[in-house]
Amino acid sequence: MEKVDTLVIGAGVIGLAIAARLSQHSEVILIEQGHHFGEHSSSRNSEVIHAGIYYPSASLKAQTCVEGKAKLYQHCEAYAIPHAKIGKVLTAQTPQEEEKLASLLLQAQNNGVDDLYWLSNKELSQKAPELNTIAGLYSPSTGILDSHQFMLSLLGQLERNQGQYVPCTKFLAATPKKGGGFSVTLSCDGERFELHCHKLVNAGGLFAQKNASLIEGLAPINVPPLHYCRGQYFSYQGIHPFKHLIYPVPEEHGLGIHATLDLAGQLRFGPDTHFINELNYNTDANAIDTFYQAIKRYWPQVDKRRLQVDYAGIRPKTQRQGQQDFQIEGAQRHGLIGLINLFGIESPGLTASLAIANKVATQLTAELT
Ligand SMILES: Cc1cc2nc3c(=O)[nH]c(=O)nc-3n(C[C@H](O)[C@H](O)[C@H](O)COP(=O)(O)OP(=O)(O)OC[C@H]3O[C@@H](n4cnc5c(N)ncnc54)[C@H](O)[C@@H]3O)c2cc1C
Repeated sequence: MEKVDTLVIGAGVIGLAIAARLSQHSEVILIEQGHHFGEHSSSRNSEVIHAGIYYPSASLKAQTCVEGKAKLYQHCEAYAIPHAKIGKVLTAQTPQEEEKLASLLLQAQNNGVDDLYWLSNKELSQKAPELNTIAGLYSPSTGILDSHQFMLSLLGQLERNQGQYVPCTKFLAATPKKGGGFSVTLSCDGERFELHCHKLVNAGGLFAQKNASLIEGLAPINVPPLHYCRGQYFSYQGIHPFKHLIYPVPEEHGLGIHATLDLAGQLRFGPDTHFINELNYNTDANAIDTFYQAIKRYWPQVDKRRLQVDYAGIRPKTQRQGQQDFQIEGAQRHGLIGLINLFGIESPGLTASLAIANKVATQLTAELT
């Protein structure tokens, strides 16, 4: 049976970041069931480098977003990944929303994001022209990046460290072995084969719960529920007045229908939030009215005819209500030494990826030494 030190399941941005990080000190195989890396959430998001404003202090989201943002900007510089620190305006349309912004400012400070500031009326009209707003906060450290190039750079790191990336290969089962490690069953082109690994990392994104249920000895209580929460986007054709990202106050399951820009300056709106029963990336052009009404609240001059339904991504929610945190679970939680499961890695997972990878590396070292 082939042996490897570490097997990472799933080549989204999280699996790629973890594999690249672990390959610095050990032999790593990264498998992906699809033909290409990053075809699920990692290529169906807003490509925003988040500042770390919204998440409860001491949450994994807050810690890894703030640490991950700094690492990601450094990484983008070092590997010449197209990116831009274009900043974002958070807007309030009512006094209640202005209060909400004030509490977000405090939350950001508690999370170590100390560069947010209130915009004067003059700055508001410069940074967010045509906006209907009574107050605005500015986050200078928010940015955008080319997530595909970022993932390619991680793959390059893995391969330079002699790690292997194996697409079209699916994780089917794992059994913990008495002497340590796991015997793993994989399939490739309809053929099954076995592998022994000391460390197993389940970075399966929307499939992480399914993968976890295939690991012998992992109690069902250690596999959280999974709810698919679709977020779709509408692109905006033609010219627009924005140079920064524009965010209304956040809602329960997402950050509100905000305006983001890509590196070419194309404007798009979304994602909305919609729980669905099965994993499909279908879009719903009928949502145009909801989008139009939500955008018109902060940008009255939006032209509905220029909105075009674009793509959708799916958030792996572990609960249908309230704030959820990332779950990065090792033996302390489930008792299987050498196994790390990652659940609920929704936004800001792209921003946090390099910090999540460090966390996984530290956790595995602590478990195995
Ligand atoms: C609508 C939306 C907008 C977002 N916007 C942002 C944003 O602007 N900024 C930000 O920081 N974050 C954002 N995020 C979050 C970010 O996109 C995710 O946190 C991140 O992409 C998750 O990466 P992942 O590797 O965990 O999952 P995925 O990208 O889904 O990758 C998991 C991979 O594992 C593979 N896999 C699963 N099971 C198996 C198996 N059994 N065998 C082999 N392979 C397997 C899958 O095929 C898949 O390729 C957004 C997310 C969504 C949904």
